[in-house]
Amino acid sequence: MDQIVNLTKRRGFVFPSAEIYGGFRSTYDYGPLGVLMLRNVKEAWWRSMVQLRDDVVGLDAAILGPPAIWEASGHLANFTDPLVDCRNCNERWRADHLVASDKDGKIHCPNCDSTDLTEARAFNMMFKTYAGPVEDEGAVAYLRPETAQGMFYNFANVLQTSRKRPPFGIAQQGKSFRNEITPGNFVFRTREFEQMELEYFVPPDEGPQWFEYWCAERMQWYRDLGIPDDMLRLRPHDPEELSHYSAGTSDVEFLFPWGWGELEGIANRTDFDLTAHSKASGERLEYYDQASGERYVPHVIEPAAGATRTMMAFLIAAYDEDEIGGERRSVLRLHPRLAPYKVAVLPLSKKDTLTPVAREVLQLLQPHVMCDYDDTQSIGRRYRRQDEVGTPFCVTVDFESLEDRAVTVRDRDTTAQDRVPIDGLVEHVRAKLAL
Ligand code: ATP
Repeated sequence: MDQIVNLTKRRGFVFPSAEIYGGFRSTYDYGPLGVLMLRNVKEAWWRSMVQLRDDVVGLDAAILGPPAIWEASGHLANFTDPLVDCRNCNERWRADHLVASDKDGKIHCPNCDSTDLTEARAFNMMFKTYAGPVEDEGAVAYLRPETAQGMFYNFANVLQTSRKRPPFGIAQQGKSFRNEITPGNFVFRTREFEQMELEYFVPPDEGPQWFEYWCAERMQWYRDLGIPDDMLRLRPHDPEELSHYSAGTSDVEFLFPWGWGELEGIANRTDFDLTAHSKASGERLEYYDQASGERYVPHVIEPAAGATRTMMAFLIAAYDEDEIGGERRSVLRLHPRLAPYKVAVLPLSKKDTLTPVAREVLQLLQPHVMCDYDDTQSIGRRYRRQDEVGTPFCVTVDFESLEDRAVTVRDRDTTAQDRVPIDGLVEHVRAKLAL
């Protein structure tokens, strides 16, 4: 874990936010490489959930919303965590994250080991703010704690404009905000984070089968992008763990350095949300099948993933150390789709004679894939820098290139090198990346 945190800071993936002011409470910024990788995670999700399907459309709803949404969804009443205070050291904890000690069967404060804890009280996790200049009750607004509600209150709009019929889905990615009591474990739990959610609307009697379908689909997505089987599992919720609206929930879990943790929750939410918004707003949120004259409130299956948390899992799964020619290296074996840079163009020396060809090669590749260009330090060090950030291919321009119009393409994982004509380079790289 320390190695990953250190690497992400040192190489510009993730910075503690407002670091020059001492940081800000488990808030993070995504640096030059982090922004590329986070976009790639979201893009890989969007590709699989929207682009490659004809039954899912996208949405980008507002982050700010009126209390009415959260009243209807149940978040104002129920989106709480149980908070306990330690009377000894004044630290605060989530009651459901504390476990009784084996020693005496009592719950101890993880910070100071005291057993003098307050009773748990419900703490609402939504961020409240005011829209407009007057801070009164009528101006209260909330930052969304999940993207899902945007899909529910836009159900009728999307149904009408997209001309889809159940089974069909609405997908959305974006920031969500939760006033977590105990954020931590790097970007695993933060107060500001990014989600990737699908609401998939189905005829009521088809809920259970689509739930199974989405569990399998989503597990496969993580596998396809390189999470090994022994670090991934699907964990069905126990009946007492189920949310009040859910007829079934399974979590996709990843083996983090501290144990299993949720990457995504897949829930059969039945008609809970559409019915709740329909009652509260007075609008009909249902599907009318003109052919059969049938009218019903669809049930919804929700695969809800975290982009930032998932990016961290991909980094952990990809991190490796090996030995090349007797020298140790660290390497991120990222799936090419997720790697920040796909190709690094490296002129063997900074000599003026090589620069024009190297820049020509760079410009040839840039329209197709995200590239880095590096002409500092020795070639060996530059290879290791690229290995460490997961760049699948390094293209080296050397003095022979001036003669034979060819370059060397080095593979991150095997370090094998191929000589490839510049004219065929784009095709070669595209085929190898298999994006
Ligand atoms: P947890 O039990 O860890 O608090 P949750 O079950 O409340 O999570 P959901 O409401 O199902 O989470 O949200 C869907 C996904 O959003 C989670 O699986 C996770 O990937 C992501 N997510 C939720 N809360 C956070 C957070 N505070 N920081 C980062 N990602 C989060």
